This record gives sequence, structure tokens and C-alpha cells, in this order.
Amino acid sequence: MLNLFGLDASSLQAVLAERGQPAYRARQLYAWLYARHARAFDVMSDLGRELRAQLAETCELRWPSVAERRRSSDGTLKYLFKLDDGATIESVFIPEARRRTICVSTQAGCPLACVFCLTGIGGYRRNLKPWEIVGQVSVIQAEAAEAGPDERPWNVVFMGMGEPLLNVEATLAALRLLLDPQGFALAPRRVTLSTVGILPALERLAQEPVRPNLAVSLHASNPTLRRTLMPIEAKYALDDVLAAARRYAPPSGGRVTFEYVLLRGVNDTRAHASELARLLRGFPGKVNLIPLNPAPEVPFEAPDPAAVSAFCAVLAEARVTVSVRRARGQDVFAACGQLHFQREAPALAVRAS
Ligand code: SAH
Repeated sequence: MLNLFGLDASSLQAVLAERGQPAYRARQLYAWLYARHARAFDVMSDLGRELRAQLAETCELRWPSVAERRRSSDGTLKYLFKLDDGATIESVFIPEARRRTICVSTQAGCPLACVFCLTGIGGYRRNLKPWEIVGQVSVIQAEAAEAGPDERPWNVVFMGMGEPLLNVEATLAALRLLLDPQGFALAPRRVTLSTVGILPALERLAQEPVRPNLAVSLHASNPTLRRTLMPIEAKYALDDVLAAARRYAPPSGGRVTFEYVLLRGVNDTRAHASELARLLRGFPGKVNLIPLNPAPEVPFEAPDPAAVSAFCAVLAEARVTVSVRRARGQDVFAACGQLHFQREAPALAVRAS
């Protein structure tokens, strides 16, 4: 069976052309898949009975299948998806007062091996396909819809397992479906891609006519320190990553964010904050501080709350916009850097709400 879910408009057109169908049929099918979230051909009333039957014989509409859900005491819901080849990935649904956020994975595991990240410690398996990326959004949106109408807008962040720009083809394909007004129709400023700065791929993203917001994982205020935390620094250096981030034109209403994980005694002093402020001087981006989400496998400690405040104060004084990311879902290992499924409490049979 050919899975049509995840195909772009021209691929759908080719599939239908093979079956003697005109281009407008592909547009109808596209809307059913990505704007109307159809799960079966028989609901596609405007396609005609015969075509629906023909499609159902040779094609399928498949989303990744949910193996487990775990709900955090703060309402965050972590999903484990089991893929066809046995690879597993995680996604996170994060309800907030005025928005709902879905955090998606782009790879099963991650090859970057940043020393403070559990996903990296867990190793790398493979790149995800476009349908496996977009399908995480469809599943979570569909389950949320079962709970009834909800006016809160959706945000999608490419901040789950993996490095999206090491899987650039599938990531761009997924972004196009999510940002297309005829597709998922997400507002570009509500979609954020986080990257360590894979430069050639970042240049490609920057060329996209409709771009998401960009978040760049810095985590250090100088290249020497960054190299001890993130092996990728040897390949794509801090200065070049910053220069590329400066050139990136965020969508209207968006802003480039610099993520900085605070590790106690490693990168969390006032001196680091001043150095970071100098690095970012004159740049209209913002810094998002992420106090380390600890785990037994991670050989670092969370920063002292006083150090977080002092770090913030130094940046604010230097007129760098700064925020502190509140950890969500820590108790079920759903927070930043905690996605991998080895060490777990028993699963709960829960549904999104
Ligand atoms: N590979 C991309 C996408 C993952 S985003 C990137 O690194 O940007 C996940 C974010 O969580 C990154 O900024 C990452 O550095 C951060 N993170 C990783 N481990 C963490 C931990 N233990 N505590 C807090 N944040 C962490």
C-alpha cells in the first residue's frame, strides 16, 4: 500500500494522474489530508465514489502509531510512537493558558552527542520521513480535538529528538505542509525550528519563501567552552553560526531565539553572561535560558536559582532580551533534553485533554 499521507501537492498530483485524474482532484485530496485531517478515503465526499474505492484498494492514509502516552502532573502529555521498523520517537503536547504547543521529533535518536542531552546519550538510529514528522502533529491534534472545541492556537516546535537540519529534506517537506495556508495553515511565527546550526542546511531554510521562526542552540559564550559541550562546534563554529543567525529573516512577528542551557558551575556565571551579552550585542534576537533538566546519566547539575537570576540580570542590563524556560513534564521525562524511552515509570492509559 502506498501511504499518501505526507506527500506534497505535486506527488499527490502524480499519483492521481496515474489513475487518469485531473489536477484539481489532487488539490481536493491535499485539503482532505492536511486541512481536514481525514483518516479514510470514504469521507472524501467530493472525490466521487469510484475514485474513493480505487484509492482505498491501492493506497492508505497512515499516521505513526502511538505506543504509549504519559501525562505529567502539570498537564504535559508525552507520546511514544513506534515506527514500522521498530524505531521509537517521542513527541510532547504542552497545553498552556493561551496556546497549545506540540514538540516534534525529526530523527529517531540524535547523532550530535551534546554532553548534557539524554537524547544524544541514547544514540542515533535514523532520519524520519515527512509523514512520520507531520503525523506526530496530526495524531496529537486529533486526540486534542476529541476533548471538544478549543480556541487556543497551535504552536509547533521542532525541538524533540534529533537535529532537524541533519534531516533537512524531510524537515523542509514537513514545514511546507504545516505552513501552507491550504494545508495545516499554521502561522509561521507559531512554528519554531531549533538547531545547533548545521550551516549549509540553515542556508537552505533561510531561502524558503515561507520560513518558520528560528531558535539556535548556543549553550556557551565562547567557542572553547562550546566545544567541550557540543562536539558539532568542531564542524560549525560559533562565530559562523551567529553570522548565519543574523542573516536569517524570521517571519513577521517572530524573532531569532538563542537557547542556552545553564549548567551549574560550567557556563552559568556572571562572567559567562557578560561574554554572551558581548557576543549578541546589537542583535535583535532574544536569549532563552534553560536551567538543566537533570538525569542520572547526565554528568551535570541544574544551576542554583540565584545563579539563574544573576545571569538574567547581567543580560538584561546589557539590553539583551532574556527569558527563562519553565520546565514542563519533568516528572515523565518530557522536558527539554529528556526525550528517550529507556528509563520510565509505568505508562498510564491516558488521552489528551
Ligand atoms: N537538535 C536541536 C533540536 C533539539 S531542541 C537543537 O539542539 O537545537 C532541544 C533543546 O533542549 C536544545 O536547545 C537542547 O540543547 C536543550 N537541551 C538538551 N538537553 C537538555 C537538558 N538536559 N536540560 C535542558 N535543556 C536541554
